[in-house]
Amino acid sequence: MDSLDVARIKKDFPILERVVNDKQIVYLDNAATTQKPTSVIEKINDYNRFSHANPHRGAHILSVESTKIYDDAKEKVKSFINAHSTEEIIFTRNTTESLNLIAQSYGREFIEKGDEIVITISSHHSNILPWQRIAKEKDAILKYLYLDKDGRLPMEEVYKKITKKTKLLSIEGMSNVLGTIHPLKEIIKYAHNMGTKVIVDGAQSVPHIKIDVKDLDADFLVFSAHKMLGPMGIGVLYGKKEILESMPPFLLGGDMIEYVSEQDSSFAPLPFKFEAGTQNVEGAAGLLEAINYLENIGIENIKLHEEVLTQYTLEKMMNISYLDIQGPLDMENRGGIISFTIKDVHPHDTATILDSYGIAIRSGHHCAQPLMHYMGVPSTSRVSFYLYNTLEDADKFLYAIKNVRKWLGYGS
Ligand code: PMP
Repeated sequence: MDSLDVARIKKDFPILERVVNDKQIVYLDNAATTQKPTSVIEKINDYNRFSHANPHRGAHILSVESTKIYDDAKEKVKSFINAHSTEEIIFTRNTTESLNLIAQSYGREFIEKGDEIVITISSHHSNILPWQRIAKEKDAILKYLYLDKDGRLPMEEVYKKITKKTKLLSIEGMSNVLGTIHPLKEIIKYAHNMGTKVIVDGAQSVPHIKIDVKDLDADFLVFSAHKMLGPMGIGVLYGKKEILESMPPFLLGGDMIEYVSEQDSSFAPLPFKFEAGTQNVEGAAGLLEAINYLENIGIENIKLHEEVLTQYTLEKMMNISYLDIQGPLDMENRGGIISFTIKDVHPHDTATILDSYGIAIRSGHHCAQPLMHYMGVPSTSRVSFYLYNTLEDADKFLYAIKNVRKWLGYGS
């Protein structure tokens, strides 16, 4: 049952009123980035208009206000994912930087020769490259969990690949290409029994699925504000306090120190140890308001709404004979991302033709080239839903994809 008043929600997103090629835009590229409601745009504007200053330690009113906004955003993220304290919440630039921070700090400190690092074949490049580098530097072994033909991760693969030698597992909550949602709780429990630390790449899952880090028990969780109605340039790294405390700082400089002498320095306590330099306060303000908006609607309601849209679209797509869908065809453990290819048509042509209908989708390798190689396709087109999409949007998309081959001169 769909419980969202999407007509009302849509009105909160001014960009969705834009007309493209004489048609009101249908935005279906949410896995790449999401749009901002007026409340987020205004929160950022208000910060810039009234309270902008360098936060922390400033005595003047603007600095005090800027600090408060930054700290409130931390508090909001903490409660959103149910972390124990704001010491466990580090603001970064994005998911990519959060993953690099873990690799460069935890990885450099704790990975040793012969250790194994396990990731999924469906990983985004930002969860591959940092581990490739650490594996090379440390003479460690990078292993992959492979998906089955339906795009799901079988637990047997987890049992086979995660062993006492596995130092780290870094796994996405939801694949940005296939929409597959992995059984994280079960996987994390198993990994912990093997003594493995687990990082969850929540770039695609945190915006759509309620996450409670205490319940999930992941050691790290990373995500980006821009995929959950917030601004670009701010991301989150959650880490268990005792693990973060054991890690050396990633970047060195202002704001992350306790004391600096000519030849040596000591570092500030968490979370500041990992937040060197002037931080993105307007980003924090936007993220704070984005979470307010999502909480107001309810993440569970958003997920249900996306399930309705995805099931509807998938069923119709499955009846189109010249269309191939990559990833799970049923609704079990999948989110609102559908990758597909149209027979004889390059995915870029599909996206370009859809743009002429005012429909925004993405095509390419989606920063997942090893997955593309594994699936035997060079690229796909990808449609991805969020809370402001409607069945009417899905119908416009379905109508347009049925016309792609005709556009290119095929009979049907
Ligand atoms: N991981 C996944 C699963 C993603 O989908 C993305 C973004 N496409 C990223 C990581 C990287 O996110 P960002 O570009 O915000 O760093």
